[in-house]
Amino acid sequence: MANLLHNNYTQETLALHAGYTYDTQRTLSVPIYQNTAYSFETLEQAAARFGLQELGNIYSRLTNPTYKILGDRLAAVEGGAFGVAAASGTAAIFYALANLAQNGDSIVYSNKIYGGTQTLIVHTLKRFGIHSKVFDIDDIEGTLENVIDETTKVIFFESLSNPQISIADVEKITKIAQKYGIVTICDNTVATAFLHKPFDFGVDVAVYSLSKYVNGQGSALGGAVIERKELNDLLVNNPRYPAFNTPDESYHGLVYATLANALPIFGIRLITEWLRNIGATLSPQNAWIILQGLETLELRIKKHSQNALEVARFLQTHPKVKNVFYPGLENNPYHSLLRKYFTDSNASGLLSFEVSSFEEAKKVCNALEIFAIVANIGDSKSLVIHPASTTHSQLSEAELKSAGITPCTIRLSIGLESPQDLIADLKQALEK
Ligand SMILES: *Cc1c(COP(=O)(O)O)cnc(C)c1O
Repeated sequence: MANLLHNNYTQETLALHAGYTYDTQRTLSVPIYQNTAYSFETLEQAAARFGLQELGNIYSRLTNPTYKILGDRLAAVEGGAFGVAAASGTAAIFYALANLAQNGDSIVYSNKIYGGTQTLIVHTLKRFGIHSKVFDIDDIEGTLENVIDETTKVIFFESLSNPQISIADVEKITKIAQKYGIVTICDNTVATAFLHKPFDFGVDVAVYSLSKYVNGQGSALGGAVIERKELNDLLVNNPRYPAFNTPDESYHGLVYATLANALPIFGIRLITEWLRNIGATLSPQNAWIILQGLETLELRIKKHSQNALEVARFLQTHPKVKNVFYPGLENNPYHSLLRKYFTDSNASGLLSFEVSSFEEAKKVCNALEIFAIVANIGDSKSLVIHPASTTHSQLSEAELKSAGITPCTIRLSIGLESPQDLIADLKQALEK
């Protein structure tokens, strides 16, 4: 059986097969390689592996067959060149950013991103001398170029952001990034590769929290960084990225650009610099759990989308609901972007809505029976949260406003239950 990694099979097929050829026992399920280290055949082989003359396993902080299969499979589904798994989405995002920016550099980010990522970029990276500037995802042409300068190493955004669900006009961003030779990173966690393929629209790197829809059952944390094909061409000899073009003292003076004929240097450096020296590696057990989720992701994400659309349609008609934010609704301001960028106009399972007051929002959240109050998304079970007091409570009032969050906003992550039951539950909670 071939590993199906580089060919033209569909995403659905690749999600089940890519990256795995039977091991010696011919197990059909991907085996869990539950080990820390690997035995070398000879000392010479060990030396060659350490010197990167021969690629292969050394230690599970850097590589492990189980999470390698996950990384390869995700890259195949995404249509990318290479994928690296990490211990969480947050670790994956940190590694992707740190792979490009260092002390004195800056990152340009969208005003509508996951609260944790915003805190990482604005506060944590600042402590390491990496600065940030924000652009307005709803006014790319009016704001993005104003914040780009010679220190800019990354343009970071989300394809579908929440809680005021919005969709990025991806091609407007990548067109500007290409003009300046800057790497774009797109967090595609909520859309998943089955609804949106960032590389088709010029994005360079896709990052994921696998803890959400890919796992699908809220049972394991994980993250991934996937690079597009030919990303090497943007990095090699680009003066913006000295880390890939000058000797790395921590790796025998290696210049990553010299590997570019044979290897995806962004992902290789992500392993040799960040997994090696920071170590937030995915456990083989969690990689296996996430592989189970990936097998059914295509079916689930479509069902999440259909259920969410039915719920959104119901909420839109309810007198106690002020606003419903769901791009699948024809009257939503992002509907045309959804049609342009998303497969079959499926908009994933997140929606938010506003009621009349904070008190009313609290009452509705507490009265729901099926929806659990959980600070998570992408579970098979339906979840509800009040962003202003929880997931986004670290944000200032101005940042909250910019992200489209008010004290009256309720976010739902629509699960795989019957949509009739979800609607009945929302109705009783609103009318209580
Ligand atoms: C959850 C989430 C993250 C962080 O991922 P973890 O796996 O929880 O570390 C990043 N981006 C988005 C869009 C998310 O929803």
